[in-house]
Amino acid sequence: MPSSPPPRQEVQISSTAASDTRNSEDLIIYCCVCYLPASSAGSDRAINSARGKSNGYPTFWLASCGHIVCSSHVFPNGVPLEAASKTYTCPYCKNDGISLAGVGAGEVPVDLRDYFRPESELLEDVAGAIKFRTNNLIRIAKHYKKLSETLTTKVEDQRRVLLKVKDELIRGKELKGSVLIRQALHN
Ligand SMILES: [Zn+2]
Ligand SMILES: [Zn+2]
Repeated sequence: MPSSPPPRQEVQISSTAASDTRNSEDLIIYCCVCYLPASSAGSDRAINSARGKSNGYPTFWLASCGHIVCSSHVFPNGVPLEAASKTYTCPYCKNDGISLAGVGAGEVPVDLRDYFRPESELLEDVAGAIKFRTNNLIRIAKHYKKLSETLTTKVEDQRRVLLKVKDELIRGKELKGSVLIRQALHN
C-alpha cells in the first residue's frame, strides 16, 4: 500500500461546489460502473475502509475516455504508486490505453477543473472574458477616433493656410497688373 498521495497538482473545488451543491454534483461525478457518488469518497470513510481503500487517496478516477470510475473496478487490490502515470483499460467502455486522473473528495487536477465547476461559475468567467475583450475593443476604437479627429483638424488647418497663400498670390498678381497699367498710362 502506498503511504503518500500521488504527486499531482490538485485544486480545491470551491466550498460552494463542495457543500451546498453536493447533491447536484453527485449527478455529475459518480462511478459509471456502480453509480456510487464521488462525494462519498472523501466524506464516507466507512465506504472507503469497507472497500479496502487507504484514506488520503482519490478513490475516484476520470479516465481519458471521459468516464469516471471508482477504484474498486480499476484497482481491486488497492491503488498502486504513481497510478496516474500508467495506462489502463476502462472498466466501463473497455477502451485500452486510457490514462487516469484522480477526482473526488473535492479535488480535481488543475487542467480538468472546468469540467467540475458549477455552470454559474463558468458563465461568470465567460461573461468576464467577453467584458474584458469588449472594453479593450472600445478603448482602441476611441483611440483611433481621436487620432482621426486630430488628423482631420490638421488637414483643415493646412487647407486654410494654402487658400490664404492662393489669395495672396492672386492679390499680388492683380497689384502687379495695376502697376503695369499705371506705368503704361504715364508713358
Ligand atoms: Zn464503481
Ligand atoms: Zn471509458
